[in-house]
Amino acid sequence: MANEKCRMYYPLTYEEPMFRPPSEARSLILQPTIGCSWNRCAFCEMYTTKKFRIRDVGEVKDEIRAIGDMQPDIRKVFLADGNAMVLPVDYLMELLSALKKSFPKLNRVSAYALPGELIVKTDDELKMINEAGLKLIYVGIESGDDEVLKLINKGETAASSVEGLLKATKAGIKSSVMILSGLGGKRYSLQHAENSAKVVNAIQPEYLSTLVLSYPHGMEHYKKRFKGDFEPCDIPDLLRELKIFIGATELDQTVFRSDHASNYLIIKGNLGREKEKMLAEIEHALENPGMAGLRPEWLRGL
Ligand code: SF4
Repeated sequence: MANEKCRMYYPLTYEEPMFRPPSEARSLILQPTIGCSWNRCAFCEMYTTKKFRIRDVGEVKDEIRAIGDMQPDIRKVFLADGNAMVLPVDYLMELLSALKKSFPKLNRVSAYALPGELIVKTDDELKMINEAGLKLIYVGIESGDDEVLKLINKGETAASSVEGLLKATKAGIKSSVMILSGLGGKRYSLQHAENSAKVVNAIQPEYLSTLVLSYPHGMEHYKKRFKGDFEPCDIPDLLRELKIFIGATELDQTVFRSDHASNYLIIKGNLGREKEKMLAEIEHALENPGMAGLRPEWLRGL
């Protein structure tokens, strides 16, 4: 039904469910890939109903041309689904060139990426992709701790995250990275926080956010997929984890946000300039669980 509606008003066919970062709310969303080529992370149910495939490039270019005829002033495009940077370089270049042709005012194309997909592309290829318009990648690093990454079956390591992201930076591609609070539960909380900070320190991303682990199919489902003992963090645990993480960051100029719907304490600011202010906000939340910054639905759990 949703597809029917899309066809009535727009020359695009979406295969749902579809996800995009909050900051892409005003972007044109294209879907050159369907699903996630990895699709095995223990906490992620986003694409489990989809079998990964790459759409025919001609079909996507037809959509771009048709939308360009209707809305040539589009400035931002996001490439879905879960890891469009897996696309071969030739495909990406063809797509980026079609976008430039149809949208003369285009100033940013972005996509979700996995570090391994950046590593397999050469420095020159990444530079070429950046110059053709791909300006920003969103990377769910999730954790900088190798033990946690293994337990959640991420298929990446702290080293691969650093290598892939530094390669992107070298090519001029900006990065927005995500860390998932509570991912390892109580047992791995400290190492998760400390090692995640080490990884982001090495990367120095332009944007950093923390989301909180949630259980769309229930806690037991996650426990079954987690390859170890999992004892969920309660809210004070999560606040302490966040405090350790932020406290251990040594960032020069990173925009930090914990304002995703899964977060209960919203903090925003520049790391490191506002690090002390953010730490004070977390401390205040720990000491005053009824404070206004905490989402009401979470207060019940404190
Ligand atoms: S790589 Fe990303 S989209 Fe794919 S399963 Fe993991 S978290 Fe989900």
